[in-house]
Amino acid sequence: MMKQLDVCSNCDNEAVRVRGSYQFKESGLKNVVLQGIELIRCKKCGNEDPVIPRLNALMRVMVRGVISKPYRLTGHEVRFLRKFLRMTGEQFSHLMHIDKTTLSKWENDEQPIGPQSDLLIRALILVLGLKETQKDQAAIIQEDFPGIHNSVHDVGIEIDPSNMTYQYA
Ligand SMILES: [Zn+2]
Repeated sequence: MMKQLDVCSNCDNEAVRVRGSYQFKESGLKNVVLQGIELIRCKKCGNEDPVIPRLNALMRVMVRGVISKPYRLTGHEVRFLRKFLRMTGEQFSHLMHIDKTTLSKWENDEQPIGPQSDLLIRALILVLGLKETQKDQAAIIQEDFPGIHNSVHDVGIEIDPSNMTYQYA
């Protein structure tokens, strides 16, 4: 059997596969860490390319983590959820009965999202975006919504891709 040769995407030198944690910035969320995933690490320049496992399942875990978080949504989280719904700013602001400028201010952290709009976005994701049982979705609304603080706050999400569970960092 031929040995698979890994090559650095940065400098084309030989790279090795290691296990480690990876901050998944490409997700659009600032604070998602994937734990214990395969990384292709360059022997020469030190560059690390992650081997992202089961991207669709990972997306759902991230979305679930964001809409269950106990603080109001931040700008990049609103943008992440809108993109998860595959909506343009125009489509999303139309759906939300807000103007595009307001959405843009939310997404760029120039204006905090209001508490009712925050909850509406989470509910829209549950209705439109997540393929889970309706019972699970109702549980999120009943159990998680009342405990959401009024402060706008980033959370870190640590994901274990081996069993697709998450915890807040
Ligand atoms: Zn390299």
